[in-house]
Amino acid sequence: MSVIHCGKASAWLGRYLDGELPWGRRQALEEHLRECETCSRALAELGEMNELLGGVAVPPVPASLSANIVRRARTEAKPATAWRTLFSGWTVWPPARRFATAGAILAALYLGIVVGGALASTRTGAEINWLQFATGGTIVKAYMGVSR
Ligand SMILES: [Zn+2]
Repeated sequence: MSVIHCGKASAWLGRYLDGELPWGRRQALEEHLRECETCSRALAELGEMNELLGGVAVPPVPASLSANIVRRARTEAKPATAWRTLFSGWTVWPPARRFATAGAILAALYLGIVVGGALASTRTGAEINWLQFATGGTIVKAYMGVSR
């Protein structure tokens, strides 16, 4: 009586054919194959299939394949917006340029807040309320309204 059943035997057939089944399992499988006609037939068919597939030549991969894939991916990616174009080189910029750009952005934001705040403070509360109402309510729109 075989120590393994057909399910386990059929799962091991591929590795058995490739010579990758550990010795103990190989012994158990060979014992099963001596007794089981179904699994012996499956092994024979798998062996024939391997021979047929072994004769199929894998086409060589052209050297330009990876470059073409990268180029296609870049052209078919999201269309570049002005913002993306502006910062497309960010990761390859030297640290000094990145630092300077970040500083310029922060300075612009700071100036916008300070100047905007100074302008807003020259208005009375009623005017600011009217401005926010007239421009849609956001502080940015209110600032745009005041600076116009
Ligand atoms: Zn079997």
